[in-house]
Amino acid sequence: MTGKPQKVLFIGGVGRSGSTLIEKVLHGLDETFAVGETLHLWERGVTNNELCGCGEPFDQCPHWQAVGDIAFGGWHKADTAKAIDLRWRVDRSRRLPQIVKALRTNKPTQEQQEYLDYLVPVLLASSEAARHPQVLLESSKHLSTAAILALDPQIDLHILHVVRDPRGVAYSWTKQVKRPETDDDFMPVYSPRRSAFRWLSDNSGFSMLGRHTKLLRIRYEDFLQQPKQTVASISEFMQIKQPDLSFINGSTIRSNHVMHSVAGNPMRFSSDDITLRHDSAWEKQLAMRHKIEVSTICAPLLRKYGYAMFC
Ligand SMILES: [Zn+2]
Repeated sequence: MTGKPQKVLFIGGVGRSGSTLIEKVLHGLDETFAVGETLHLWERGVTNNELCGCGEPFDQCPHWQAVGDIAFGGWHKADTAKAIDLRWRVDRSRRLPQIVKALRTNKPTQEQQEYLDYLVPVLLASSEAARHPQVLLESSKHLSTAAILALDPQIDLHILHVVRDPRGVAYSWTKQVKRPETDDDFMPVYSPRRSAFRWLSDNSGFSMLGRHTKLLRIRYEDFLQQPKQTVASISEFMQIKQPDLSFINGSTIRSNHVMHSVAGNPMRFSSDDITLRHDSAWEKQLAMRHKIEVSTICAPLLRKYGYAMFC
């Protein structure tokens, strides 16, 4: 290892908690560069050649081609099948006990290290290809990916734990959303009960991970209400000195930076300015029985995060 570890802000939390919007806004800071969800890079990028956030297919995107050259001497020289196999062996929720054990002893298993030897070079090469930004934004979201990255000394990991009202999350998972990287694929749909259990377990896990690595928790609702203050507090967490926040004007965010983020969410494909709005559709649209079900399942953390039990 040479030089200082690369500062990485890992945007984590349950899917549909607003992490993509937050990633996109943070990408507006001069000191940051967003790489998207590198967890999915080997399958969706290298193998399926899906669209990058810049609109080009993966194999036509100049950023990701430079990353492949720097990290592996070209993507064709990397063992893609092995990287995918390791991801499914190592980087998933059911493997968390092994990852936590490795964090406690500060010693990754051989398989975990082999997986990191695919994951981390991609991040370091992304930094080099983007001319060494102070902070890389990684938005794989998954708790297991955050935990495993905490094991690598080449990464100075900072976790941004994003939480959103679980009833808003549950409502969002019931809606069908098309994935723009492919022609006819939709993002998955989950029942309120299933997403509520996921909300509880993942958020508990991130709280636990905060004992092992630097972690800042923000609420999506606070970000929507006070974007400038929220980005200022995230900049402070990342030790970014005197960030230029002039791209945030009230609830309007100027968005003119191209994103080379791999995989994920339709929002990454728009380069229009963003107007932030309080997203309260779930308050009217989510059925009362589902509100009660989700509130009951998530009760242990609702008060801790400052959400009302009844709504
Ligand atoms: Zn690109």
